[in-house]
Amino acid sequence: MSSTTGLAPTAPARAAGSAAAHVVVVGAGVTGLLTAVACARAGHRVTVLERGPLPNPDATSHDQHRAIRTLLPGDPGGTARRLDAHRHWQDLEALFGTPLYRRVGTLTAHPEGRLDELLAEADRAGVPVDLPAERELPPLGLPPGTVGVRERTGGVLLADRVLHAAARWLATRPGVVLRPHSTVRSVFTGSGRIVLDTGEVLRGDLALLAGGPWTRRLADSPVTLHRQTMLYLGRPAGDDRWDGAPAAGGLGREGRGWVLPPGVGTLLKLSSDTVCRPVADTDSSGEDQRPYLERLAVEGVLPDLDRYPVVGVRVCHYTADAATGGPLLTRVSPGLWTRAACGGSGFSTAPLVAERIAEAVKEAA
Ligand SMILES: Cc1cc2nc3c(=O)[nH]c(=O)nc-3n(C[C@H](O)[C@H](O)[C@H](O)COP(=O)(O)OP(=O)(O)OC[C@H]3O[C@@H](n4cnc5c(N)ncnc54)[C@H](O)[C@@H]3O)c2cc1C
Repeated sequence: MSSTTGLAPTAPARAAGSAAAHVVVVGAGVTGLLTAVACARAGHRVTVLERGPLPNPDATSHDQHRAIRTLLPGDPGGTARRLDAHRHWQDLEALFGTPLYRRVGTLTAHPEGRLDELLAEADRAGVPVDLPAERELPPLGLPPGTVGVRERTGGVLLADRVLHAAARWLATRPGVVLRPHSTVRSVFTGSGRIVLDTGEVLRGDLALLAGGPWTRRLADSPVTLHRQTMLYLGRPAGDDRWDGAPAAGGLGREGRGWVLPPGVGTLLKLSSDTVCRPVADTDSSGEDQRPYLERLAVEGVLPDLDRYPVVGVRVCHYTADAATGGPLLTRVSPGLWTRAACGGSGFSTAPLVAERIAEAVKEAA
């Protein structure tokens, strides 16, 4: 959209000589809410626009849990950023004054032959790891020839509790305006002006589009939309082997399955990258989930899967950069940023996006 239509111009919010800026955030998922928190902590005025309730149960972020993993083999820069994210989560937990992060660690299956190399890399990166004995863990489908390596700087983020805690904290801050049921219709990419469904036009000193998989409706970006089917399981009766168990990945015959452990009122969640598929839109209402569930059942992610009661099935969407398959944070113009794609680790890395946007506000001052 061009910035030269006949809409009445709205004045930028920053008063001359004032260090405080006005930041407009579109979308109250984890990216939008943590960005609002970072900007409010830096002393800026913030407006959060969310099309549904706040937080919105339809947001990608609104789930029981998400994993945080820090060791990215072969990517020391990425590992350093993930360690930074891990520290941010501890800081946010202290700020909100409520448990949000189960530091149970993250276990990943690694080829036995490359174990020494991996342990050396973990040492260099400062990621504490260990190799738990099989008897310490619930039965996991580690592929043959692999060893489970547990990172201590990882675990499970209690995703929906994060959203509620952030929204509660923001609601108490002077200078923060939370606007649920405010749908953004379009955005002027040049000026960063935001047009709501009601016709209201808003402009801050900086705007971030953080609409999750729906961001692509507001700003054109080269992203691929993915859909994934997830299975929620209860524990087998009398089974306490999951107490304190880590999140685990690299499981199953193809080494692409993962599980998030149950605990503090959450279920066990299981899925695999093999059931992650590119789709055209976020409407999954007509899609038959049985082929994906059958696929998950035979993959061997949990060798004794038939012992676990199935509690629910859910599909979820995320976007990834079409070129790299990873995340995408773009500065469209001086006053407009877009989180065009979050990739598969967009929850755990949201504090880094929040920090980058708070820095961008400072740079623009
Ligand atoms: C199956 C699956 C498993 C995942 N596992 C992990 C994991 O283990 N670890 C991890 O770190 N990440 C994981 N992710 C990724 C992570 O969940 C997402 O990247 C993250 O939650 C995206 O957060 P967000 O705030 O950017 O978007 P969302 O949470 O989708 O929030 C966007 C918000 O914007 C609102 N909105 C949209 N359009 C408009 C509009 N026009 N006007 C106003 N509001 C609007 C929506 O209602 C919504 O509330 C996973 C994703 C999937 C799909």
